[in-house]
Amino acid sequence: MSPPYHFELNASGRCGTINCKKGNLVLEVDWEMSGVPDKDILLAPMDLTHWASGEAVAKAEQRTILEHLRTWLAGKKTRADIDRPTKEIEDSATCVWSGCEEPPLKGFAYCGNHYDDTLLKK
Ligand SMILES: [Zn+2]
Repeated sequence: MSPPYHFELNASGRCGTINCKKGNLVLEVDWEMSGVPDKDILLAPMDLTHWASGEAVAKAEQRTILEHLRTWLAGKKTRADIDRPTKEIEDSATCVWSGCEEPPLKGFAYCGNHYDDTLLKK
């Protein structure tokens, strides 16, 4: 089975867009070139709330798109500010998100899922 999302990066100078396609649906995310040495492009906060057609994107799918986009960028060796800062987790704490009992990422207040939410526009 082919992945449900197809990404395409368009550049014009130091910025551009990444198109995310799912079937007939398209979503456009703006990016700009990073000024910091350990990142290539800056994307956050990403507006994944609506397809270009106006249909809303459910929160769960926004997280899925974010995850697919990360994988796609990693495959292109493009470092972005939407990458998880660490894979390590804190053993002795819980995420500060109300009601969440997951351990936070090491050095961060949020667990992986809720860290991702901070990268997404509400
Ligand atoms: Zn959490």
